[in-house]
Amino acid sequence: MIIKEIIQIGNPILSKKSKFVANINSKETQRVIKNLIDSVRYHDLIGIAASQIGEKLRIFVTEVRKTAYRNLEKDILRIYINPKIVWSSKKQIIIYEGCGSVAYAKLFAPVKRPEKIIIEAFDGVGNKFRLKAEGFLSRVIQHEYDHLDGVEFTEKITDMRKIMSSEEYKKMMISKM
Ligand SMILES: [Zn+2]
Repeated sequence: MIIKEIIQIGNPILSKKSKFVANINSKETQRVIKNLIDSVRYHDLIGIAASQIGEKLRIFVTEVRKTAYRNLEKDILRIYINPKIVWSSKKQIIIYEGCGSVAYAKLFAPVKRPEKIIIEAFDGVGNKFRLKAEGFLSRVIQHEYDHLDGVEFTEKITDMRKIMSSEEYKKMMISKM
């Protein structure tokens, strides 16, 4: 089922810590995963966390691909359950982020985070995996991971004067292509 309305910033659900998933193969967990996959695609996002569709569980999905705003390197759909970032690079970089929960992804702003990370998690069928991520995938993972602890990217904006509307952001990205 597609979740047509993504929960918006200001709703208390988004600022609460999500709970660990006890049973990955349960109908309930599988339903949440399916809803996340349908919703990330429907809303043309590259990542979404369970809290954004009203489920306080430690699950998110990523699917880095070309969107209306960015021509990104293509990555497969990935599901992360009970994830843990076990290593982050010392080097940090600034990248513009947006979020389906912040004015329906119509606001972009610069955020500084580690360039590379290693994450451990369980996939959609309960297999544990370890992934080293860099580039945009690393960025999306860190953004979604924050959602599990109730943190929105707006708390990490490095320069408030550089906030952009999605339209201006798009113009800037097109001029760089
Ligand atoms: Zn987000």
